[in-house]
Amino acid sequence: MSNSDFSADLKANLESIHARINAACHRAGRNPSDIRLLPVTKTVDEARLRAAYALGIREMGENKVQEAQGKWEAMGDLEDLRWVLIGHLQTNKAKHAARFASEFQGLDSARLAEILDRRLQHEGRAIDVLVQVNTSGEDTKFGLPPEQVVDFVRTLPAYSSLRVRGLMTLALFSKDESRVRPCFVRLRELRDRLRQEAPDGIVMDELSMGMSGDFEMAIEEGATTVRVGTAIFGARPTADSDYWPGFAGKQDAP
Ligand SMILES: *Cc1c(COP(=O)(O)O)cnc(C)c1O
Repeated sequence: MSNSDFSADLKANLESIHARINAACHRAGRNPSDIRLLPVTKTVDEARLRAAYALGIREMGENKVQEAQGKWEAMGDLEDLRWVLIGHLQTNKAKHAARFASEFQGLDSARLAEILDRRLQHEGRAIDVLVQVNTSGEDTKFGLPPEQVVDFVRTLPAYSSLRVRGLMTLALFSKDESRVRPCFVRLRELRDRLRQEAPDGIVMDELSMGMSGDFEMAIEEGATTVRVGTAIFGARPTADSDYWPGFAGKQDAP
């Protein structure tokens, strides 16, 4: 496919996603301007990312630090582009992340908070951070168990380079809506509780939940950010297990 074909497809996909976001907001009595669409650009090559930029995209969500860093270096001329790391981050990658990420949606341990904060201070930077919660209870998913989140968040004011904004989750991958929706509800209820119990200086506004297959449901349940990859950029050439260690497959999930 040529880049201009890609650009036309991309434009149509973005319009369709925005229409679906609007419809979901309408059903839920929410304002579409309260929803942030974070395009997830993993596996998408530079030429296509530049086409996306030309269409107005100013944030790119990436799951692997090395891939994200390569793209950040290659597209350093696009100065207003924000790189958002989504999902689990190994502590030995924190120093790379600290160089370029504007936001990290995947904080899930005290050790990572400490190392990332130290690296950010070294770089003289601060980033937005969301705490990842395992709302599905699956062993293969990263994130803190919901019952540990309040205590964890209480420790975060110690890390001055981490601007805590809210929570993030990956719901159960299932076609059975009655098993997916409770994951989103759980995250929202936790956020509401944290709004009462979070320490001073910690603002818990963001709920990053919902992907290509379930973002409308997530909006109905209160998502403020939806992370959408394939519905914008098309199917990925690599298996999702490359990006989510231990992941068995989205299509055949029960
Ligand atoms: C890949 C990814 C997404 C987007 O998934 P799609 O199904 O392609 O929309 C969202 N969140 C995380 C953490 C991801 O790794």
